[in-house]
Amino acid sequence: MKKIIIDEEFCKGCGLCAEACPKQLLKIGSKLNKQGYPLVEIESSDQEKCVSCALCARVCPDVALKITKPEK
Ligand code: SF4
Ligand code: SF4
Repeated sequence: MKKIIIDEEFCKGCGLCAEACPKQLLKIGSKLNKQGYPLVEIESSDQEKCVSCALCARVCPDVALKITKPEK
């Protein structure tokens, strides 16, 4: 299950989320969105390593990240 959902059209590629992630799961990739900004990425295999702390979502100035809660 995806824990991190990226809204590609809101991301501006600033990298603040990547700096905030304690697990270093996020990085700015080479793919551009429609506005020409490079998008933040997460490897699908790294989705499992996410601890759902939501620090990345909190620091994003463009509210481009959503974190799903772990299933109980
Ligand atoms: S929720 Fe926490 S662990 Fe998961 S990608 Fe964001 S900052 Fe990293
Ligand atoms: S903080 Fe938000 S706008 Fe900046 S790279 Fe991350 S998702 Fe994109």
